[in-house]
Amino acid sequence: MSKQPTESFVLAVDVGTTSIRCHVYDKEAQIRGSCTDKVVPLYPEVGHVEMDPGEIWRGFITVVKGAVQDAGVQMRQIEALGISTQRATFTTWDRKTGVPFHNFISWQDQRAADLVKSWNRSCTMKSIHGAMKLLYFLTRQKRLLAASLIVFSTQHVTFRLAWALRHYTQVRQAVAEGKCCFGTIDTWLLFKLTKGAFIFLYHYHVTLLQMCWSGFLCSLVSLPLSIFPKVENTGHDFGSTDPSIFGVPIPIMSMADQQAAMFGECCFDVGDVKITMGTGTFMNINTESKPHTSVAGLYPVVGWKIGSEVVYLAEGNAADTGTAIKWAQELELFSDVKDTSAMAYSVSDSDGVCFVPSFSGLQAPLNDPKACASLMGLKPSTTKSHLVRAILESVAFRNNQLYETMLRETRIPITKIRVDGGVSSNDFVMQLTADLFGRKVTRPQHLEMSCLGAAFVAGLGIGYWRTREELKKLQSTDKMFLPRGANKEGACSRSREYIPVLQSWERALRRSMNWYKP
Ligand code: ADP
Repeated sequence: MSKQPTESFVLAVDVGTTSIRCHVYDKEAQIRGSCTDKVVPLYPEVGHVEMDPGEIWRGFITVVKGAVQDAGVQMRQIEALGISTQRATFTTWDRKTGVPFHNFISWQDQRAADLVKSWNRSCTMKSIHGAMKLLYFLTRQKRLLAASLIVFSTQHVTFRLAWALRHYTQVRQAVAEGKCCFGTIDTWLLFKLTKGAFIFLYHYHVTLLQMCWSGFLCSLVSLPLSIFPKVENTGHDFGSTDPSIFGVPIPIMSMADQQAAMFGECCFDVGDVKITMGTGTFMNINTESKPHTSVAGLYPVVGWKIGSEVVYLAEGNAADTGTAIKWAQELELFSDVKDTSAMAYSVSDSDGVCFVPSFSGLQAPLNDPKACASLMGLKPSTTKSHLVRAILESVAFRNNQLYETMLRETRIPITKIRVDGGVSSNDFVMQLTADLFGRKVTRPQHLEMSCLGAAFVAGLGIGYWRTREELKKLQSTDKMFLPRGANKEGACSRSREYIPVLQSWERALRRSMNWYKP
């Protein structure tokens, strides 16, 4: 009889905006096998961005089987599966058949823009804001001031779901018949993987403090509570994959989003910061057990809930990072994205060109959905390298804006800064980011930290790894970016050299604001 292999592994899948990736991790957190598939966005109408659930499912199965094959191991050697997906991309489906009523509606989709606009201007919203302001003046509680400034955006699920309920008769009918399920990509995948045995949603979608759905808020915007899934921890035994799918059941032990990258980067302690730079930028700081209330547009999110521990993060977002790079590639400013760092270094400055990365408005701290993307200061002498440098500088400048906002608002001393996501492989962006921060910035060997985070949570859940200290020892470092003039700890005063360039860029930002008329 042949000897059965004894080594076991943890598998994690990340369904991103542009690709689905799967990695097989061993005990040293080394990747032993990988597989990637493309996510093809659909644009059925102007402003509509969708994904075909059938294609996501096919891609998911392909990458899991492909990664296991690439690792040269057998499915039964996989001890646990962790999943991380996009936060606000959702669909609705039939509870009995599992068949979706419509495509996934992406977080980038603008179809609810008019609804959002009219809601933000509504008397209800004005009364809520007024009441919060009044309470703030009476009590001086900052969270009331923050609540008085909250406005909805199309990135939130709320109004896109309201739009779906309004426009899809089938969804309304299914709600009336009590057979409609709503969920983000992970929830739907879980439904499919367990053949309908488990429907969940982890807690960042729910009221932050109570960790449950808010009946009041749902009724305010007419969302039926009956379609919402059960709320569970990030690390939880979600059941096993049906044996017919991969030949053996695999326990599903974690569900997360890009903030799983915080876990993958071992940002377990208060003041730890990670910056994920993919399609968009997501900068998170660990605020421990306190949700941060912001007036500048940082979001309080749940990093993870494991057992009774809830860790909150404050999150700053810039929507157009990878999108700006891709756009430049489509314009043929370069053919291989790997060349962009050298192109930027090949010139001493951007020749006065400023790029405003705002295809989908400007997020924190300016919070202007009507801002336009722009290139300013073009001259006959401007070359492709100048343009590429201006675009890469804009990514680092947005990092700097978010970082300054975090320092100012949270007042939490920063302990470490780690980066991940496709754009973090760009040395020019990372060095400039470190120079502007005046802090050491560390890049891991593998940039897919959301995947590793999902694997870490799943592995801890089954005892594959035992402690967070053990995980910290497994962390890899590809490169540390020290700010110019740094001391041994990697800190120095923030670079002043860039101040005039930053000031010009800020002027360009202001000129791009409020561009689109309501
Ligand atoms: P997502 O998870 O949002 O799908 P990724 O983390 O995979 O995104 O990052 C993809 C983005 O990274 C793409 O827009 C790609 O152009 C960009 N990218 C990859 N390598 C580089 C590089 N060396 N320099 C700049 N951008 C890069």
